[in-house]
Amino acid sequence: MFSVALDGPAGAGKSTIAKEIAKKFQIIHVDTGAMYRAIALYFIKHNIDTKDINSIVPKLDSIKISINFTEQGQRIYINNEDITDDIRTAEVSMGASNVSAIPEVRAFLLDTQRDLAKHNSVIMDGRDIGTVILPDATVKIFLTAKAEVRATRRLKEYQEKDENVSFEEVLRDVIKRDENDSSRATAPLKQADDAFLVDTSDMDFNQSVEYISNIIKERTQK
Ligand code: C5P
Repeated sequence: MFSVALDGPAGAGKSTIAKEIAKKFQIIHVDTGAMYRAIALYFIKHNIDTKDINSIVPKLDSIKISINFTEQGQRIYINNEDITDDIRTAEVSMGASNVSAIPEVRAFLLDTQRDLAKHNSVIMDGRDIGTVILPDATVKIFLTAKAEVRATRRLKEYQEKDENVSFEEVLRDVIKRDENDSSRATAPLKQADDAFLVDTSDMDFNQSVEYISNIIKERTQK
């Protein structure tokens, strides 16, 4: 068994690349961002501000997050309701960044994430996988790209879902989330000392997958 920790800022392509790598290596892709998004969506639906720590923390006990791995990727459920298709909006993105700064929310998800890697070979993507969740991961990758490139990719995703947002809004959102994620006190976004830095600004999807696959092969065949 082996584990790949894939961290990096918003829109670096972590999820799409991880999905493809999981298929190639026949391992499970765990998208931890989806867990923070699910929690954010739960509070948005209950009309609770995603920054309102005092309201959020006592309600965490009433949330059950479950995950199911399918051929098409991870499905995520909150209290048995499949919300996978509802979490990729700009509002939920920012909400996820807010709830993820709450230490109790991170602690709530930590065991679930570690357990998945204990029982399966995984590629797990997030912000703190190489630094906090799986410090002994077989391979650690820090995936990044210029903010403008990341915003362009996110905009395309939103447009495919008919979400009406401008490039400027998405760029602002990406930069704001990077700031939030990098400056928070608990498990901030940062490259682990032993992670490979991969900048995909000038790579297309296939090149990125190829490049990362080679790193994984090299490390897992040792
Ligand atoms: O990766 P994704 O964009 O789906 O993540 C949504 C938000 O969840 C991020 O902006 C970040 O604040 C938070 N997150 C985190 N730690 C992780 C994964 C995601 O704080 N391991």
